[in-house]
Amino acid sequence: MIDLPIQCTCGSVRGTLLDVAPSTVQNLVCHCIDCRSTLRHLGRANDLLTEHGGTAVVHSTPARMQITHGHTHVGLLRLSPKGLLRFYATCCNTPIASMLDDPRQAFVSIARCILPSDADTHLGPAVGVRGRSAIGNLRTLDAAHNVPAWLVARIGWRLAKQRLQGQARPSAFHAADGTCIAVATILTLEQRTAAQHDPR
Ligand SMILES: [Zn+2]
Ligand SMILES: [Zn+2]
Repeated sequence: MIDLPIQCTCGSVRGTLLDVAPSTVQNLVCHCIDCRSTLRHLGRANDLLTEHGGTAVVHSTPARMQITHGHTHVGLLRLSPKGLLRFYATCCNTPIASMLDDPRQAFVSIARCILPSDADTHLGPAVGVRGRSAIGNLRTLDAAHNVPAWLVARIGWRLAKQRLQGQARPSAFHAADGTCIAVATILTLEQRTAAQHDPR
């Protein structure tokens, strides 16, 4: 296992992802509309979406993700009032990580772009998921229609194990009293609709 540096595009928000190995993280490219909408809303669709509208993410746990610099540049978006907590860097609109709004869940989905570009050997092969929402030339798409059963099983098993291991907390995005370090901006219906629009 290895510890990898993480940083936003401009370098103001920095930190470390601990204990990285194919056995502790899940490398994914998600083609769902919510992931894509987040990048569009942040104005990062052009440089961060794959040619099929996919978003590259790496699953790990809150306890393994440390932010050491730039806490004041951490912002929080929610696509809807009960949507995932989607943290991003306000300095350069870089997505950082998404979490469930539940302190018992040992889950964080980290934007691949904040990890070193040459880290794939430590992350394991990326699995394409939710291909039913992909865009572009679907003949060249390498992704499951939804999430394959083996991956659902692996993620579920890991979530249970990590929860028992106490990996849900601490969280770099939460204060000791459990409140988020950033105030959530919830997208309006108009903003969400605009971000969901797939240009032809
Ligand atoms: Zn930045
Ligand atoms: Zn997604």
